[in-house]
Amino acid sequence: SLSERLESAFKQLKGEGRISEINVATTVKEIRRALVDADVNYKIAKEFTDKVKDKALGEKVITAISPSQLMVKIVKDELAELMGNTEVELDIKANPTVILIAGLQGSGKTTFSGKLANFLKTQKNKKPLLVAADIYRPAAIDQLKVLGGQIGVEVYSEPENKNAVQIAENAIKQAKAQGYNIVIIDTAGRLAVDEVMMTEVANVKAAVQPQEILFVVDSMTGQDAVNTAKAFNDRLDFTGVVLTKLDGDTRGGAALTIKYTVNKPIKFVSMGEKLDTLDVFYPERMAQRILGMGDITTLVERAQAQFNEEQAKKLEKKIRQNQFDFDDFKEQLQQIKKMGSIKDLLGMIPGVGKAVKDLDISDDSFKGIEAMINSMTPAERANPDLIDGSRRKRIAKGAGKEITDVNQFMKQFEQMRQMMKMMNKIPGGAKGLKMRG
Ligand code: GDP
Ligand code: MG
Repeated sequence: SLSERLESAFKQLKGEGRISEINVATTVKEIRRALVDADVNYKIAKEFTDKVKDKALGEKVITAISPSQLMVKIVKDELAELMGNTEVELDIKANPTVILIAGLQGSGKTTFSGKLANFLKTQKNKKPLLVAADIYRPAAIDQLKVLGGQIGVEVYSEPENKNAVQIAENAIKQAKAQGYNIVIIDTAGRLAVDEVMMTEVANVKAAVQPQEILFVVDSMTGQDAVNTAKAFNDRLDFTGVVLTKLDGDTRGGAALTIKYTVNKPIKFVSMGEKLDTLDVFYPERMAQRILGMGDITTLVERAQAQFNEEQAKKLEKKIRQNQFDFDDFKEQLQQIKKMGSIKDLLGMIPGVGKAVKDLDISDDSFKGIEAMINSMTPAERANPDLIDGSRRKRIAKGAGKEITDVNQFMKQFEQMRQMMKMMNKIPGGAKGLKMRG
């Protein structure tokens, strides 16, 4: 899959100390291949990776994150940008708001119409009317009626009328008379782009002046999806795109290319046949999904904000001289804490998010440790070897802890210092203590 391919491209950077012209070039080439194989048009893939390359080489390398993490973030940002960056909401202010649904046969128009009606009813507190304007397939009316029944939304139909424009106009009249504030018109599609179909939808558009024209496209059709989008947009100048069947084994190319090609936002993604599986499209989340990752961006951004080069150097020096003390320890704790709750931080690590979701991880263990450090005198903090039995008793009392807690903490701290000492004996060993992925 695209996710796996991109992951293996980033892997090449793992273990690299810094971003260089050579390792970026190799990674970028891999990314480009992965995109093209996922049905992204070559020109777009090239433009994309050129941008990624420029950004990667221009980026200031900081010690807190590794080149591969940095690359993932750059690619993620560019993917989101390619898909439109921010979500675009439906324009549903007008009363009634008319929404015209268009697309090829089998793309999922009727299913989406039901999902959209359900979404607007349950999430936006609207009173929608569904309109069966597919005049060619008798079963189409029944299909929409079944969906409407499931979600408790009225369906307007005229089984004998073979004029889609009239049906749409009559439906809007009824909506106005009966207090519906949304009218969703489900139209007929053909298997391929076809003049009769286009003319019919264009005529409905001209007659009812919809606020929204949503183009529905099956994301599994890859490059064809993009060509179809272009044909529909040339004719209808639609207001948004709906990607359906994203639950299937799609290669991702359609989502990545459509916005670029027609310059219209993707507004919804549909992922299943159940009526409550409609999602507003968030470019950022889609990018994360394509990269198969948790919210690494936020994690990287927070790390960038908290760790600066100078502090890192100071710390490294102290560790090298075996001078790491309780003040340093406390400072490190505070920096980690500034990044957010431990549970949130864990959740942002790719692959960990799901595992910790249901766990009860609190920040209390941190609090206890901080209380013990706070209960030490400045001399004790700077010189941990001072802390004998009676001092431990006093520290425990001051921190509201048992003496066994202090003993345990002291033991862990001592082990940590021993480890640092050992690393100092290995050439280049102290590097291992820096935060690297
Ligand atoms: P239309 O011809 O454009 O109206 O398409 P339909 O709404 O009738 O859908 C065609 C087929 O695709 C039906 O079998 C739907 O159940 C199915 N379908 C629609 N949307 C989705 C989706 O998001 N995921 C999956 N897996 N199937 C879908
Ligand atoms: Mg249909």
